[in-house]
Formats: sequence, structure tokens, C-alpha cells
Amino acid sequence: MKLKTINAGYVKVDGGAFFGVVPKVLWQKLMPADENNLVPNILRLLLIDDGEHVILIDTGLGNKQDEKFFKNYHCYGNHDLTQVIRENGYTPGQITDVILTHLHADHSGGAVSLDKQGNLVPTFPNAKYWLSRAQWNHALNPNPREKAAFLPENYMPLSDRGVLRMVDQDTQLYPGIFLKHRYGHTRGLLSVHIKLGQRWLIYASDFLPTAYHIYEPYIMSYDICAEKTLQEKAEFFQWIIDRKHCVIFNHDPFNECGIIYRDKKGHKIKETFTLDEFINSKD
Ligand SMILES: [Zn+2]
Repeated sequence: MKLKTINAGYVKVDGGAFFGVVPKVLWQKLMPADENNLVPNILRLLLIDDGEHVILIDTGLGNKQDEKFFKNYHCYGNHDLTQVIRENGYTPGQITDVILTHLHADHSGGAVSLDKQGNLVPTFPNAKYWLSRAQWNHALNPNPREKAAFLPENYMPLSDRGVLRMVDQDTQLYPGIFLKHRYGHTRGLLSVHIKLGQRWLIYASDFLPTAYHIYEPYIMSYDICAEKTLQEKAEFFQWIIDRKHCVIFNHDPFNECGIIYRDKKGHKIKETFTLDEFINSKD
């Protein structure tokens, strides 16, 4: 199985919103803010090539929106997903499956592109697009607080073309690739758990966006239910800590992946590295 992280560009978000109730005096030591209190977020995707399927997890913001939209997101880097995929050695036609962890614009925007005639079409013409039914139903009827993150042009064309595939429960998508539902960040977010021998690689998505969010109070203000996220994190850490499983941090510009331990006092500590370093170290 070949695994590759994909850099689909960067955005900047409000540091206060990103770290929730944690005071700035604490979080700014980890991730310094600019003069507008913004912190950088990478849009880090994962590509899995198991020899039979080429699976892309999430699609970034894409590049079909107007200039004002990109300004609002403080975008930089390359958001042209087709180009990024080619630079990583694949053509859009080779992608067989796209897993949308959820439908917020920074995860689903690249799923749909404008063709030469200006029509909205699936970016990956041969792919099935996987999504939880809970997230689909939630996106069709969002609460006013979350509504701005759901842009119908990112997913209605997938539904119209019949390429969406709904997941109803935690499931194994293909051998060694499991989808797990979470409900704190948004309803029916899918984390992807990949089995690599005795160890697991977890694409947590916005359930655990950076290496700093491993600490309990670090929960994004965007989450629809912080208490649920707290509970989901506690369960996750109970499973993962000291087992050498590896988490990919999808929005962390500084730490690609990490293993989480407890020190002698019981505090969580992390060791971070690149995905290639993890794969090469795997026993
Ligand atoms: Zn996100």
C-alpha cells in the first residue's frame, strides 16, 4: 500500500476560534498569530494506492470560487487540486474513490470543478465519492451557525451525477481501510483508520486538526458540540496512547503526523514527524 500526504494549499483562520476556550497567551506560544490574529492552516489530504484503488481523502478548497471568497479564507499556496494531484504523479482519471470526511468547504471544495463550458462537474471523473449519510442530511439542513461552511456547489453536482455513495455506519471500505463516525465537530464526520501491519494510521480530520488539539481544552469553536468532541477525544486517546499508532494532522502546517504518549506524570506528550518517516520506521 502506497501512502502520500498531499498539500492542497493553505488558509488562515482566527486563532481564537481555532483554539476555542484556550487563552491566547497559551496558544500563541504554539502557533504565533499574525497582526490580524490569524493562524495558518494547511489543507493536508491523504492519497492511498493499494494497487487496486487510488483513494483520495478530502479535497481541500478547490479553485472554482471567486477572488472575494479566496480573500475571505486568506488563501495561499496552490489550491488547484487537479494540478496538485498531477504533481504527485497521478492523473484525475486514476482516482477511483474520494472519501469526504465532511462537507465543510475546506474539505469538499476540490470535489467539484468548473469545466471549460463553465459547468460544475466532479473533479475526478471515474471516482465514487464516499460520505456519511448523517453528514449529508445535516448539510442539507444546516443550523444557521454552521451554514456558511456548507456550499451546495461543492456537493450537489456529485448527487446530480449519481457519484455519491452514502455510509450508514462504521465500516470497512476496502481491506485495511475503515471509516469511523464522529459527531462533535459536525454530525457524521468520518475519520479514516488504516491498518499497517500491527500499527494504525489515522486520518483524524477536524476531530483532531493539529498536534496541539491533543490537549483536552483545545477544541475549535467551530465544533457543533464541544462536549461531544471532548468525549470522543477521551475515548480515542484511551485507545491510541502508548500504542505507537500514528495520527495525521490535517490542518497542522508544522506537524504532519504524530505518536502520542503519556509521560511519568500522566501528561500527554507527542512525537511528531513526516508520514514518510513514520512509514520507514514501521516495525
Ligand atoms: Zn477543516
